Amino acid sequence: MALNEYNKKRDFSETPEPIGRKKKDHKKLIFVVQRHQARQLHFDFRLEADGVLKSWAIPKGPSMNPAEKRLAIMVEDHPLDYAGFVGEISAGNYGAGDVEIWDHGTWEPKAKFSDIRKALSGGLIEFTLHGKILKGEFALVEFENSTAKNGWILVKARDKYALDEEYHAEEIPGRG
Ligand code: MN
Repeated sequence: MALNEYNKKRDFSETPEPIGRKKKDHKKLIFVVQRHQARQLHFDFRLEADGVLKSWAIPKGPSMNPAEKRLAIMVEDHPLDYAGFVGEISAGNYGAGDVEIWDHGTWEPKAKFSDIRKALSGGLIEFTLHGKILKGEFALVEFENSTAKNGWILVKARDKYALDEEYHAEEIPGRG
């Protein structure tokens, strides 16, 4: 869990993004999903762990339908300050494009995954999200097939919040 890679990829005289510094975790761990209209639209899913935001880029965005497994590519850790970042990363910079907050709230790992670092290195974490859009239980599962580098799946668990219809992150009622 380090921010070297995050800082190395960015020129902070050019991008409005926050400089990467490790911080102490919040009492309640936060999560954020940022809609990032870069060259390819994707949704950046970030979970606070160990003073940083563990981050996955999800091309289709999260789904509340347990039947829809969503590809989630693990990317570099981001600073906790990034959870509040919205705005335009100008052309020529890493991740150039528009960033907005799609959902945010707090999260908690299930008890048997309370050692988050260990869970992530083991490629499985089950957790609960307390967001405005994303609610209830989810899992992140790493591909066993090593040809899919940094490939994970984000999947909703079946609970009272689960939905059965096709889920489109771009068409959430009350948004846009
Ligand atoms: Mn992104």
